[in-house]
Amino acid sequence: MFEAEDHREIREAVARLCERFPGEYWRRLDAERAYPSEFVEALTEAGYLATLIPEEYGGAGLTLSAAAAVLEEIQRAGCNGAACHAQMYVMGTLLRHGSEEQKSRYLPGIASGDLRLQAFGVTEPGSGTDTTSIRTFARREGDRYVVNGQKIWTSRAEHSDLMLLLARTTPREEVAKRTEGLSVFLLDMREALGKGLSIRPIRTMMNHSTTEIFFDNVEVPAENLIGEEGRGFRYILSGMNAERILIAAECVGDAKWLIERSARYAGERQVFGRPIGANQGIQFPIARAYANMRAAELMVKEAARRYEAGEDCGAEANMAKLLAADASNEAANAAIQTHGGFGFAEEYDIERKFRETRLYQVAPISTNLILAYLSEHILGMPRSY
Ligand SMILES: Cc1cc2nc3c(=O)[nH]c(=O)nc-3n(C[C@H](O)[C@H](O)[C@H](O)COP(=O)(O)OP(=O)(O)OC[C@H]3O[C@@H](n4cnc5c(N)ncnc54)[C@H](O)[C@@H]3O)c2cc1C
Repeated sequence: MFEAEDHREIREAVARLCERFPGEYWRRLDAERAYPSEFVEALTEAGYLATLIPEEYGGAGLTLSAAAAVLEEIQRAGCNGAACHAQMYVMGTLLRHGSEEQKSRYLPGIASGDLRLQAFGVTEPGSGTDTTSIRTFARREGDRYVVNGQKIWTSRAEHSDLMLLLARTTPREEVAKRTEGLSVFLLDMREALGKGLSIRPIRTMMNHSTTEIFFDNVEVPAENLIGEEGRGFRYILSGMNAERILIAAECVGDAKWLIERSARYAGERQVFGRPIGANQGIQFPIARAYANMRAAELMVKEAARRYEAGEDCGAEANMAKLLAADASNEAANAAIQTHGGFGFAEEYDIERKFRETRLYQVAPISTNLILAYLSEHILGMPRSY
């Protein structure tokens, strides 16, 4: 009932790999808020984290929909790709806007697993969703930039070698448009740690290895600037469509896992002498979650198709993220309700998935901001923010 047509071989191989990482594995890490190193290593060794890296740099050179299939199957198996999904979507900025020199310096190491590009430093405590008001500043001094400021929610920073960093290079007051004057850097955190860069973990309701980062005169060689100075917001935006499509695929995978678990439990659990799934009050929320998951899945495919064809996919990528995050959230609610008290017991993994998938109502972009985008850009209503 959940068979996807595309990328069959990849899906089956990912599912086989995930069998080595059952619920107990994730539960133990969740309790300790520890990073799933063995899982990430297995994915790296199998080449999945290099799905989007071109073959000439040692990657698989596959499409965004292949990457979406990988991430969907990870979630579909009850695992959690949040430990490493950024390596897939951060890649686009380097691939599309990085110089040949940057690509040949970093991509082969990332493809082989010697280097990790897992950290994406955009959000700041004072700017929130309003990205153009970030204050972290990179000042050019000869052949380097000197960075000062703070990031928050920079996930996986403790488990990454490199970070894609967005910083202001011209003060907001001095640019004609607020989207100008922002630049993207590939920061080598191994060199910067202890030399002005400090990382502080933030404990969250789910196991997500997220952090806040402080920059105190951190030096970045000028050659690590990606593309042109001042055009970074545009580069980041083009990568964000890929990010939304991939996260949406993860939510579809979460929804499938939750729906399958719920339907199975509803058929097995006997109360009042018959399966609880014989009651429409139990059936219908699961069936509705299934219908919504399928609708989201189709929108993810359409968004990926447009992305791969080089067409504008802003609306579809946003809608895919909105519908898929709603579908997984709804499936998680139905799963808790179906499992009754056992939905709250750690050993069933339902409460863990409930917590994990809840994030996607807020990050990487919140549902409200997607609705605001559709209202303004598709429906022509006044800008509300
Ligand atoms: C676990 C986790 C991991 C993350 N990982 C990363 C990461 O790796 N890198 C990174 O850069 N960021 C990351 N983020 C940050 C994430 O992208 C932001 O949390 C998200 O964009 C929302 O920003 P905010 O938290 O500042 O909320 P705010 O912008 O403060 O918004 C708070 C609430 O107000 C609503 N709101 C704000 N403005 C409007 C408006 N105009 N209209 C209607 N509603 C509005 C929002 O929808 C939200 O519900 C992560 C966040 C979390 C929680």
